[in-house]
Amino acid sequence: MKKLTILGSTGSIGTQTLEIVREYPNLFQIQGLTCNQNIELLEKQIFEFKPKYVCVMNEEAAEKLKPKISPAITVYTGLEGLINISTESKCDILLTAVVGSIGLLPTYEAIKKGIDIALANKETLVTAGEIIMAEAKKSGSKILPVDSEHSAIFQCLQGNDMSSVEKIILTASGGSFLRTSLETLKFVKPEEALKHPNWDMGKKITIDSATMMNKGLEVIEAKWLFDLSIDQIDVVIHPESIIHSMVQYQDRSVIAQMGLPDMKLPILYALNYPKRIKTDYEPLDLTKIGQLNFLAPDLEKFRALSLAYESIKIGHTMPVVLNTANEIYVQKFLENKIKFLEIAEYVEREMEQHDIINNPTIEDIIKIENEMKERLI
Ligand code: MG
Repeated sequence: MKKLTILGSTGSIGTQTLEIVREYPNLFQIQGLTCNQNIELLEKQIFEFKPKYVCVMNEEAAEKLKPKISPAITVYTGLEGLINISTESKCDILLTAVVGSIGLLPTYEAIKKGIDIALANKETLVTAGEIIMAEAKKSGSKILPVDSEHSAIFQCLQGNDMSSVEKIILTASGGSFLRTSLETLKFVKPEEALKHPNWDMGKKITIDSATMMNKGLEVIEAKWLFDLSIDQIDVVIHPESIIHSMVQYQDRSVIAQMGLPDMKLPILYALNYPKRIKTDYEPLDLTKIGQLNFLAPDLEKFRALSLAYESIKIGHTMPVVLNTANEIYVQKFLENKIKFLEIAEYVEREMEQHDIINNPTIEDIIKIENEMKERLI
């Protein structure tokens, strides 16, 4: 039985992971669960999965929860609590499914202790990939990707030598606006951007899919996770989301991983790696899909994708600025305070004004994030 702590158990990845735990009660035991402020759902999860530790980011919400649950459960709060539950909950795997830069420190501290990570928080590798991968190498902590593209690459690499990899090809659905003209994009509303054609995901990542910043962040993540140079990472739009990504080897043979777009598959693979578990999920029927299509991304329309490539080519603290500015401006777009195309415009403006710090420490990264949040929110 694997002991599991889930950071962000009330979110999209968190709830899907708990569905898996419910389906396979003999494989997993829940040690810790955390939420931002959705204590109604957390309370139900506590009742069903009986964790020993919980963390609620919002302190008022934590106080409301305490009288409703067993006094034997340790209740942590805030970022410090999130770090405590990550390092002290005696889990075999820490699943990091919180959204945004809040995921960095808890993941970093858990890696230092040698805890294996099922990584669903993109920001960790985007902002501090070099530090995180070096620390994982030192402590022996395994970083198992949960994102469908990185899981696909990871699966396509099994049994092959990294030195024979020529490049990887990340697939992208193209999001809600694949066929929307640049002119129309000026006026789209959050409700329209939130309608993703294939994947059912949280709000932030759905907007990131619509701008294609999501793919940009995944390019940066892949660079660190698989130790590749940025020219070895391509993006191709594949609207059906059946091929989840591919690896091209030196002999020009390409291995692809396929499956129906269901996040439970990459979650299951990460949690059981290297084993595969028998499921009764709907099988992929290619005759029903009919055809698979591929096209190059329109970099003028999806400016965010180019910005992500630029940021990682510059490196150092530039991806931190890209990621933090994006996080702030996506939220502003969701609140109807800025227009859709302004997300990338303002991210670019922040990048242009940034004074780079070479080889940043975790402290430098957090300082930049905090300064930007104070100034821009
Ligand atoms: Mg993805």
